[in-house]
Amino acid sequence: MEEQTEPVKRRLGVMGGTFDPIHHGHLVAASEVAAKFHLDEVVFVPTGEPWQKSHRKVSPAEDRYLMTVIATASNPQFSVSRIDIDRGGPTYTVDTLRELRSLNENADLYFITGADALAQILTWRDTDELFSFAHFIGVTRPGHILANPGLPEDRVSFVEVPALAISSSDCRARVAEGEPVWYLVPDGVVRYIDKRRLYRHDG
Ligand code: ATP
Ligand code: MG
Repeated sequence: MEEQTEPVKRRLGVMGGTFDPIHHGHLVAASEVAAKFHLDEVVFVPTGEPWQKSHRKVSPAEDRYLMTVIATASNPQFSVSRIDIDRGGPTYTVDTLRELRSLNENADLYFITGADALAQILTWRDTDELFSFAHFIGVTRPGHILANPGLPEDRVSFVEVPALAISSSDCRARVAEGEPVWYLVPDGVVRYIDKRRLYRHDG
């Protein structure tokens, strides 16, 4: 009888975010989880544009996509996916993971999420389906407590990452006030924000 060997599955990290703009907190989290979980690749997935701009104006998807490409281009393990942008409308993580699942049949998915986003997870849509698509990895984030908000123990892991007290909100506020964002975001992203006059009151 022929022996059937299980094909080795690729280990694919998924880093979802608005990335408005992408900053070093996102990049360190992805890099750290990739190393600790022996991931083959981390795909960054910028969210789609909400139909209704509820409380704030999110920058155009193409700008957020390009900043994410600029920030990740030099890392051979990092890639960027347009799936949420091209689907259009608000992004539900369950849709992202369903689509990545069917595009990567021979991969295990690891969804990387900061402590603040993890705490929200049970308020997300279709949680049972969510956990069937991916393993969840919660990472530490300054100012937030990393705890299991009641997820199945075997579907979630916790990783301590170097603490970077950086947020996109703070980066936007800095640019609006004419303060620097050098070294909070990659150099190419500083240049792109300037070139496109993002986050300016007059932008
Ligand atoms: P905003 O202030 O606009 O909400 P943000 O900095 O929280 O932006 P998001 O695009 O909302 O960035 O976050 C995408 C993911 O990255 C989330 O899971 C979030 O928890 C995580 N994340 C963001 N910043 C950090 C950080 N400094 N350390 C660890 N995780 C982070
Ligand atoms: Mg956020």
